[in-house]
Amino acid sequence: MDDKVIWGLSEKGIFSVKSAYYTDLEKKKQKTGETSNGDQNERLRGKVWRLTNSSKVKQFLLKVLNGILPTRSNLFKRRIIDNSTCPICNREEETALHVLWVCLASVDVWGEDCSPVKKWRRNYADFMSLWSDLHSKLEEGQLHIVAEVLHGLWRRQNDMVFEGKFKGPSVLFQQAIQEVEAITLAQEKPRESQASSTELIRTMWRPPRPDYMEVNVDAAMDTKKKKMGISVVVRDFRG
Ligand SMILES: [Zn+2]
Repeated sequence: MDDKVIWGLSEKGIFSVKSAYYTDLEKKKQKTGETSNGDQNERLRGKVWRLTNSSKVKQFLLKVLNGILPTRSNLFKRRIIDNSTCPICNREEETALHVLWVCLASVDVWGEDCSPVKKWRRNYADFMSLWSDLHSKLEEGQLHIVAEVLHGLWRRQNDMVFEGKFKGPSVLFQQAIQEVEAITLAQEKPRESQASSTELIRTMWRPPRPDYMEVNVDAAMDTKKKKMGISVVVRDFRG
């Protein structure tokens, strides 16, 4: 069901939080001509959950897609700072799309040889439309790396502002690829260890020399019942 304006401003001009919320929602819809777009955006947000196991990257992407990443543009709108210009290029407003895609410093990163989005256009209307394109054109693995790079770009921006450090473009991509490899490996590990556990046990036992016998003793004691069990395994070189 679509959201509707159900609490507009009354004739007397009485205003409530509910009315503000719905009116704002309706205005946004009129502006972007959406409704089906809204559903599409919801789907794109949902896909973030399945993309990566990294909660940091998930949270970051959802902030960007919900328009609440603390960019200079957002902080300026909330009157927390008085200048919304990007501190890296000092040319344009620092929106999410600017930091992550348009700023010359990020263009350098996306232009790396290993980048799956090399030579992609820059003129997206907003981050959501870029994300939609990334989703439809990239394979899952590539999208995972791109998501890590996006997160890396945002962290780099903060590192520069707060610590005066600035990572080069190739470093960002290398780190993203390493992160994705580590996450993928961690996901595969449980299955692998199950399959290889018998293999591991087999390789752990080495038969004794032909003229020796191997004796393994294991004892267990039940203190409550005052019983003790001993198991003895004797093996020659034939096992
Ligand atoms: Zn910039």
